[in-house]
Amino acid sequence: MSVERRGERETYSYLCIGCPLGCRLELDESQGELLEVRGNSCKKGEEFARQEHVDPRRVVTTTVAITDALWPRLPVKTDGAVPKALVAEVCRALRAVRAHAPVALGEVIVADVLGTGVDVVATRDLPPRKEAPVGGGGRPPGPV
Ligand code: SF4
Repeated sequence: MSVERRGERETYSYLCIGCPLGCRLELDESQGELLEVRGNSCKKGEEFARQEHVDPRRVVTTTVAITDALWPRLPVKTDGAVPKALVAEVCRALRAVRAHAPVALGEVIVADVLGTGVDVVATRDLPPRKEAPVGGGGRPPGPV
């Protein structure tokens, strides 16, 4: 974010993260009043600039540990945007989380993370690890 001042009018610049186009947005403010948004190619960009200016938020996407699953990490994300200032703290809190297989897509892994009112949910199904077959179950011996 950068700001340019002309008299009482300030122009703030933001990069829209609403889609891969990455439009460069400008938002004018005068005496605490939000005025025009420019540079957006759609309505979502205007909403992003106004939200980013007063209360920047982000969806957190990461993984948590999971036991007895096919893989050791479960992909998760917040089901809404959390205050940008809390993103690192949410990631830290998720380091201590351990889910248990099986997990279904959309299952709540952490409810109301850090009191934000936002849940952390699984972004895929993760079935339990299959029991190893009797006798080891590895590749049969043979030429490589
Ligand atoms: S303004 Fe619209 S088109 Fe441009 S980056 Fe944002 S979401 Fe995409």
